[in-house]
Amino acid sequence: INWYPGHMVKARREIQNSLKLVDIVIILLDARAPFSCRNRDLERMVGQKPLIMVLNKMDLADAGCTERYIEELAREGLQAVAVDAITGKGMSQVLKAIGQTYKPLADKMLAKGRRVRPARVMVAGVPNVGKSTFLNCLVGKKVAKTGAKPGVTRGKQWVRVREDIELMDTPGLMWPKIESEEQGLKLALLEVIGENAYHEDQVALYLVKILREKRPEVLKEKFRLADIEGTDEEILQAVGRKRGYLIKGGEVDFYKTCHMLLHDFRKGSLGRISLD
Ligand code: GDP
Repeated sequence: INWYPGHMVKARREIQNSLKLVDIVIILLDARAPFSCRNRDLERMVGQKPLIMVLNKMDLADAGCTERYIEELAREGLQAVAVDAITGKGMSQVLKAIGQTYKPLADKMLAKGRRVRPARVMVAGVPNVGKSTFLNCLVGKKVAKTGAKPGVTRGKQWVRVREDIELMDTPGLMWPKIESEEQGLKLALLEVIGENAYHEDQVALYLVKILREKRPEVLKEKFRLADIEGTDEEILQAVGRKRGYLIKGGEVDFYKTCHMLLHDFRKGSLGRISLD
C-alpha cells in the first residue's frame, strides 16, 4: 500500500471552515471496518462539535460485528447508529440521534430567550463510505434548498431535512490515518483508497487470508473447494480454476481471479463480512 492523501491541507481547512457553521457533525464510517476508517486527529478537530458516528453499508457487514463495534464506540463515549443509505434502513434513528443531540443546545437558546433555529448538521467521512448516498437518502425528494444566506452560509447550501434539521449539502472529506499494512489492505478492500495505491493481487491474497480465518465456508461453498489447505496463493489458484479463469495452456489467469474476487467481495456476493 502506497497511499498519500492529496490536498490534505486544503481539505483540512475546508472542514475547519464548515465546522464554524454547524451544530452537529455526522462522521460516516464503513460498517465493515469502522475503526480502520477513522482518523483520530481529524476527529479531535471535528469533535469540538457534538459527534454522531454513522456506520453505513450495514447491509454488507456482519450484523453481530456491527453491534459489537457500536458498543465499542459507546465505551469511548461516542454515539453510533448503523444504516443502509441505499434502502434508508436506520435513517429514522439518525434523525432521532440528531434531535436528542441538539436538545441541550436548543434548551440553551431558549434559556437565553432566543428563537430556536433548526439544527445545522454536516456529514464527513473518508472517500467511498457513502457520503453522497447518505445525503441523498436523508434529503429524499425534499430538494427545498434553504438558499444562501449572505454572510452566514458563505457559499454553502443548506437543505431542510425536517422542520428542525438543516443539512449542509456538501460533505466534508476526511482521510484515514493508516497505521499498519493490514489497515491499508482493509481500506483497499473497501475502496477507501484508490486502485493506484495498491496491487490487486496483494489485496486479493489478504482477502483469501480473511476468508480462511473468518469464513472458510464461503471458500468451500461458493467456490466449491474440497479443502482449504495450502498457501493463500494456492487457494486463489484453485478459485480461479473453479471459476474457469484460464489462459492459454490451461494455466489460471491469476490477475483476473484476483480482480473478480475483489469485485465479488465489494458487491456483497461473498456474504456479509466485517473486517475490523
Ligand atoms: P462518497 O464517496 O462517500 O460520497 O460515497 P458514495 O455515496 O459515492 O458511495 C460509494 C459507493 O457505495 C456507491 O457505489 C454507493 O452506491 C455505495 N453505497 C453507499 N451507501 C451504501 C449502503 O448503505 N449499502 C451499500 N451496499 N452500498 C452503498
